[in-house]
Amino acid sequence: MAPLGRGPRRGSYAWGGWLALALVVLAHVLQSLSSGAYLGGARVTTYPKHVLILTAHPDDECMFFAPTIHALGAHNVTISALCLSNGNADGLGRVRSQELLHSYGVLGVPAERVTCLNDPHLQDGMQQVWTPARVRDTVRAHANMTHLDTILTFDAGGVSLHPNHRALFHGALQLQAALVADEARMVALWTLHTWSWRTKFWGMWASVWQRVDAHDYLFRSTLREYGQSLQAMYQHQTQLVWFRYLYVFFSSYMYANRVRVVVQEL
Ligand SMILES: [Zn+2]
Repeated sequence: MAPLGRGPRRGSYAWGGWLALALVVLAHVLQSLSSGAYLGGARVTTYPKHVLILTAHPDDECMFFAPTIHALGAHNVTISALCLSNGNADGLGRVRSQELLHSYGVLGVPAERVTCLNDPHLQDGMQQVWTPARVRDTVRAHANMTHLDTILTFDAGGVSLHPNHRALFHGALQLQAALVADEARMVALWTLHTWSWRTKFWGMWASVWQRVDAHDYLFRSTLREYGQSLQAMYQHQTQLVWFRYLYVFFSSYMYANRVRVVVQEL
């Protein structure tokens, strides 16, 4: 004889499962319907010509910036990439720099436009101090500055408060100011908005409900692009520990990027 109460509990689990499935399907449908690039809520009509994706570690590009990379690639924007460290905190730098090339390949950026550095002053680690001046000079030395019109990097929050990420923002600000002072030339600085803790792990829902300021971009991936982002993450085999599988499903950055334009006076 079945224990008392077993039937109703099983039934409520089944309803819960169906409800969760329905919410996921609904979110995917809404994500697909609202995918694309927006500036202050309106569709983006003009794009930069050449964007440098400036990151700190191999895997930043697909864990955080993939929706923007997809949107730029879909509009024939030339993308270059500069990763300031090879992520050698665990002695895997050589392997991780190869994983970076493969990941960018999946995201549509050819290897010849991807640079991964191993600078003793810019090593991967929470305790490693990257000075803004070092970041500024390194980017200027290694990026093809004459052809760039936009640099995309982290904002002051660095997504996760990681000091290497945050250093890129301050270094990029200094570089932008230096270009203005030295060459009277403006390179646009785009910074990836750090989601609040409330919205960081809403997954696909975050992009559906997100409202942005008039001067912010919002890039939302299609389902196909999200699949490509998963494929890019899969190239980082050394990083595929169990919580990364949760990350790629729940992180808002996998589905959408909010990007702010930083302007300095010429
Ligand atoms: Zn990182």
